[in-house]
Amino acid sequence: MRIIGLTGGIGSGKSTVAEAFVALGAALVDTDQIAHALSQAGQAGAKAVAQLFGDDYLNDAGSIDRAKLRKRIFTDAAAKQRLESALHPLIYAEAIRQLAALPDSVPYALLAVPLLFETGSYAGIIDQSLLVDCPEELQIRRVMARSQLSRDEVLAIMHQQLPRAAKLALADEVILNDADLDSLLEKVKELHKKYTQAHESEQD
Ligand code: ATP
Repeated sequence: MRIIGLTGGIGSGKSTVAEAFVALGAALVDTDQIAHALSQAGQAGAKAVAQLFGDDYLNDAGSIDRAKLRKRIFTDAAAKQRLESALHPLIYAEAIRQLAALPDSVPYALLAVPLLFETGSYAGIIDQSLLVDCPEELQIRRVMARSQLSRDEVLAIMHQQLPRAAKLALADEVILNDADLDSLLEKVKELHKKYTQAHESEQD
């Protein structure tokens, strides 16, 4: 089964693209969803955070207090490093488990990893990458429209990610998300056809 690594900067449109692929019948393993599941009460991610930083970093229900943790790691690079070293292997192992559990009939699977190029950890398991690319100004506006973040906060997050040009240079395939949703869906449809046909010709 071919594995396509789906990536893109904050607010570029990864989730929208992933949803559109799924609606067409593609399989999706999403590392953001895995991270979220692991942060729930009693799950390995929540346990790791409590061990690293104390129970104060869990909310009353026992899941990770994401706002508090985000604040801590924003100003404490060593804490960020320790958190990533603890969570990353858990997320990776679960992603591998979910990919392995997909039925053989699946023509290809998307593996959504926001920092695919930044971390490099998934390079060995994907067959090719797909970047959702978006002009930076549009990216900033879309993130601000759907969150409480200020322009400066969005820019600070963007600066922690690889610059657009570097991602474009690394990607095998690019979806430019600079227009309306209908044209984005058309691009997804074309790629879905391409990935499915590639699978069929491999079977011949
Ligand atoms: P994040 O990195 O924060 O998870 P993302 O890359 O998954 O973001 P989306 O959540 O898919 O991005 O898109 C960001 C916002 O922009 C959403 O509110 C989405 O509905 C909107 N959006 C994405 N693409 C388009 C488009 N072509 N036209 C209009 N709105 C769009």
